[in-house]
Amino acid sequence: MSAVKFTRKQFESFVSALIQSGRPVMAPQAKNGRYAFGPLAAAEEFRLDYDVTILPPKKYLLPQTETLLTYQVGGACSSVRDAEPMILLGVHPYDMVAINQMDELFRQDQYDKHYMDRRCRTTIIALDVVTPSENVFAASMGTATVKSGYDILLTVLPDGSILADAATDKGQELLDPAESTPAAEADLKARKTVWDKNEKALNKHVLECKPSYLPKLLENAYDHPVWEEKARLCYSCGSCNQVCPTCYCFDVQDQVSWDLKTGERKRCWDGCLLENFATVAGNHNFRKDRAARYRHRLYRKGKYVPGKIGGQIACVGCGRCITACTAKIANPVEVYNRLMEDTELG
Ligand code: SF4
Ligand code: SF4
Repeated sequence: MSAVKFTRKQFESFVSALIQSGRPVMAPQAKNGRYAFGPLAAAEEFRLDYDVTILPPKKYLLPQTETLLTYQVGGACSSVRDAEPMILLGVHPYDMVAINQMDELFRQDQYDKHYMDRRCRTTIIALDVVTPSENVFAASMGTATVKSGYDILLTVLPDGSILADAATDKGQELLDPAESTPAAEADLKARKTVWDKNEKALNKHVLECKPSYLPKLLENAYDHPVWEEKARLCYSCGSCNQVCPTCYCFDVQDQVSWDLKTGERKRCWDGCLLENFATVAGNHNFRKDRAARYRHRLYRKGKYVPGKIGGQIACVGCGRCITACTAKIANPVEVYNRLMEDTELG
């Protein structure tokens, strides 16, 4: 594998070649004063300097709605597998870490063919952050930089050139035909300065403990008053779940056609803050209480999911939930720091 350096003009040609390769290229573009991943039609629309996208790129690997299978009522069924090759361009390190976590979760227990098909056919070109967003705290969560999961890592160097480092054969194949110059030792050093800078700058909310301490912190926090205090203001809108790169809960429903002969089994995103998330047959709701739902989200991030993926914390510090929550109560750092204070007092 090799690392190369692009001038801006060469980089534009590289992105144009990706678009012309025929595979859909999904990349961050400006949208009403914010940024969103979408199909890239022209290289100049890709924003290397975006701060954060409204939704994370996970939407291409786990779509908001998808058909899992179609069936004849009382008859045969067939699985729907629609994965096509795709390029995700410009994935920030914290979103890459979230995808790495989802890969692990969807691979274990019940291997999820729908997710994994898509993941295997996707080429990911990650991008070190150029502009920190107003609520990012990736540095606190150890996700300001990333070392795995991508096929190519892009870094905008202080002189404005772009370093592209291939991590897989898939990535190398994309770089090989592009016009560029081999990266020199000085370019790799310049990249290190970008990484060092981001390790400090991507920290708009500072977690007062190491992320690895969170499962222990939550061990004795189940009855803490913070859950009730925060949840009093919660609308149960589920926005904090919907924008989160590590939330992966879904609902599965059968939709039968009007003639009652055929049907589709669909899955769509669900969210643990929504009132009916934990409702089961017989209309029993295991988490009817808002505070219980509010607490559940923070326990998922800091204790339950880490228990399934070797201790990795399922909050990557993107800050999207903080921005999305109109009640201003979704900030995980505020809650965890509050628990830390009380732990110290105790
Ligand atoms: S976004 Fe805020 S108000 Fe909405 S469910 Fe989440 S915590 Fe509650
Ligand atoms: S909990 Fe909030 S900050 Fe953490 S990964 Fe999810 S959206 Fe981002």
